[in-house]
Amino acid sequence: MDTAEFRRHAHAVADWIADYMEGVERFPVRAQVRPGEIASQLAPAPPAQGEPMERILADFESVVLPGITHWQHPSFFAYFPANSSPPSLLAEMLTAALGANCMLWQTSPAATEMETRVLDWLRQLTGLPEGLHGVIQDSASSATLCAILTARERATGWKANEEGLRTSPPLAVYCSTETHSSVEKDVKVAGLGRRHLRAVPVDERFAMRPGALEEAIAADRAAGIVPACVVATLGTTGVGAFDPLRPIGEICRREGVFLHVDAAWAGSAFILPEHRRWLDGIEYADSFVFNPHKWLFTNFDCSAHFVRDPAGLVRTLEILPAYLQTRERAEVIDYRDWGVPLGRRFRALKLWFVLRSYGAEGLRARIADHIALAADLERTIAAEPGFELMAPRSLALLNFRYHPAGVDDGAALDRLNEVLLERLNASGRLYLTQNRVNGAYAIRFSIGQTGTERRHIESAWAEIRATAHSLEA
Ligand SMILES: *Cc1c(COP(=O)(O)O)cnc(C)c1O
Repeated sequence: MDTAEFRRHAHAVADWIADYMEGVERFPVRAQVRPGEIASQLAPAPPAQGEPMERILADFESVVLPGITHWQHPSFFAYFPANSSPPSLLAEMLTAALGANCMLWQTSPAATEMETRVLDWLRQLTGLPEGLHGVIQDSASSATLCAILTARERATGWKANEEGLRTSPPLAVYCSTETHSSVEKDVKVAGLGRRHLRAVPVDERFAMRPGALEEAIAADRAAGIVPACVVATLGTTGVGAFDPLRPIGEICRREGVFLHVDAAWAGSAFILPEHRRWLDGIEYADSFVFNPHKWLFTNFDCSAHFVRDPAGLVRTLEILPAYLQTRERAEVIDYRDWGVPLGRRFRALKLWFVLRSYGAEGLRARIADHIALAADLERTIAAEPGFELMAPRSLALLNFRYHPAGVDDGAALDRLNEVLLERLNASGRLYLTQNRVNGAYAIRFSIGQTGTERRHIESAWAEIRATAHSLEA
């Protein structure tokens, strides 16, 4: 493809994207295809001859799009949002065009220096203390893995990388029963063994009980197991619970245990000062992660990872073969030493575009809007006969279920709500996910897509009510 042809197609693709943004509501939110339906339309072998771009783009529309779940649909209320925005998209196009691998300062100084700067912007915006140093990871799962690996090295006197784990006593990691599954995966990947992950009980608001954490640590010490890391969550995935940082941090400090804070979703809300009370005690954290790729209008992937002691992280992950050594190494940051992959995309650019294009006030207004919509929906559900909230609202996250008068058997309610959720998602008009709250089936409603407005919440609620009542009939 020559550049003249590229220019023509690039203009057409830009138009397609703008049309998509304007018209995304015409698509069903959740892809309405059966397993294998898309695969059966993809050629079983690669083409021998090049094909015209017109045909490839036409297939993108006819074959690919039906198999897409539209995360940028304003009636996407499933999981957590992975919201995007026009400025973020523009930057992603430029990043792809530059195609730079930003593993070392030298391999694109602007990428490194901008990453340092915009992460400090994020630190200021979210009210994190000075002395935390930021790096962009591909995901919160990776950031937590890096934290657990650093904790592992620290707890073994920096020996595990060299000697493996056979010569040291077992190392334990603590989280709550509500913690995201990535922590379990990271403990396994770090070689610590799943049986050394402690799920500490929670209180009636689903937050980790510090007293129970203290007991678990004491029990491990008595058994010759070394407490290495606590993962506290601010905004759990199920109900959005906040673990109490200050008492947890005091225990970590006293016990010499590494503290990592997972705020993957809720971290974006800390740009609103009124939600920062959950950060009380943050000075105890060794590591903190949140995902601008969830709720800060920045395309996946972009996870903001902050550490108090970059030297510890680098000591854990650094490798230095001859071909990666550069003369200016002592004066600069080589971010490849701050994470697992060597290669790195220029992800700071989209953050820079988003933060400059919206400005702090624009971002705050949008997130405050999402939270206000959730608060209104919470009142609506609480006032609606036949429905009940299953947990207190957290920011823009709700859990509820349909509970018609006269149906009080737990298993029957679970089944009823399972059917309700499947009907709703099959309608294509909205997309929600299921959850379990204290063992009971709940429908989870998460607001945060960039284009979501009041009318989307209102029609979602009308759809939920009507579908629920149609089940009785
Ligand atoms: C979404 C989420 C994660 C995982 O995030 P990835 O970036 O997809 O790895 C981890 N923890 C919490 C609390 C989350 O909400």
